[in-house]
Amino acid sequence: MLSADQLLDALLERAVSVTETETVSVTDVLGRVLAVPQTSAITVPPLDNSAMDGYAVRVADVAVPGVRLPVSQRILAGTVGMPLQAGTAARIFTGAPVPEGADAVLMQEYCSAEGESVVINTLPHSGENIRRAGEDIRSGAQVFAAGTRLGAAEMGLAASVGLAELPVFKKLKVACFFTGDELVAPGKPLQPGQIYNSNRYTLTGLVNGLGCELIDLGIVPDTLEATEAALEGAASIADVVITSGGVSVGEADYVKAAVEKLGRVEMWKVAMKPGKPLVYGRVNDADFIGLPGNPVSAFVTFCLFVRPFLLKRMGAADVLYRAFAVQADFSWHKPGARREFLRARLQPNGKLALFPNQSSGVLTSCAWADGLVDLAVGQTIQPGEWVRFIPLSELLS
Ligand code: AMP
Ligand code: MG
Repeated sequence: MLSADQLLDALLERAVSVTETETVSVTDVLGRVLAVPQTSAITVPPLDNSAMDGYAVRVADVAVPGVRLPVSQRILAGTVGMPLQAGTAARIFTGAPVPEGADAVLMQEYCSAEGESVVINTLPHSGENIRRAGEDIRSGAQVFAAGTRLGAAEMGLAASVGLAELPVFKKLKVACFFTGDELVAPGKPLQPGQIYNSNRYTLTGLVNGLGCELIDLGIVPDTLEATEAALEGAASIADVVITSGGVSVGEADYVKAAVEKLGRVEMWKVAMKPGKPLVYGRVNDADFIGLPGNPVSAFVTFCLFVRPFLLKRMGAADVLYRAFAVQADFSWHKPGARREFLRARLQPNGKLALFPNQSSGVLTSCAWADGLVDLAVGQTIQPGEWVRFIPLSELLS
């Protein structure tokens, strides 16, 4: 059985980035991956400008507080003023270019307007409240490396250097199906023995959240024929096929057999809890990942393994999550034989609480949690001990 680290390494080794690109308007690039590095053709901000509403002065003109200076001009954002005459002040507003000769801007709260003059009630420091030209970006500098995932801040940053479109990798096509004779779609009543297909919705959120194109093939019955047919169809239209359920060693588990028949299984089983049964294989040109059926196992294994795999497949450069040391506010007395990922929540005291039921069937634990405590084999925990914590924010974005 592979360790979680071995499985992740093996998956990333096999994850080959898509190569096809397209050009997309910056308004529509949320969640996409940049295909080509971008440099700025301009300096941002283009000119020294005021960080405050107030008065631009020459520091040398304000030797003592209480100096009165005539106001020689008004400079609004979007206009450029005249060079500042010595012995005068310029009324200036936030974002307006600082006039040549001025070397400080005084907040209007430190000044009193008196007719056509202003009384400066404080001593300015050179450079005070001046945002320097180029302090954000210099002309010619790289703004984004290839492989950058484009979020809201990146969209704004691209626009700030004047980019209207960006070259991004084509969306990765991910086909999903869900095995289990017990599964029913929400909206229909449950018969005895049936459960709702929650994994479909969890995976829809996860796959869409990464910016992949989801092809949802629905529920597949527990027979080898149906599983094979679904797999063959999925592999012919998608870059990656993801399933849930049917990967253990039960009598109704046909996923691994179907992959073996149509392609090959390269990895099976990972030494962790939740989520031991997990299959990676290839079917024709598609990658195949079979997740466990238990809802918590499917969620956790997707976050820890499938997410980095898909991100690398999408062309992203930065695919690994970060873990942080956080203090436990709980005890754990059950040393495990497998590495274990516990659903935990950060409390206002900055320490971690555990969801009381850590069963792999209790999906409430995932909705409640804001991260996973990563327990080593045999590890026990006393309150106050520092543990390895992976925030869900590292795993869901
Ligand atoms: P399996 O791996 O197919 O043996 O499934 C393990 C457990 O997960 C069983 O209790 C299944 O009923 C449950 N399960 C499988 N698929 C789903 C699903 N799509 N949604 C919710 N629970 C599921
Ligand atoms: Mg099943």
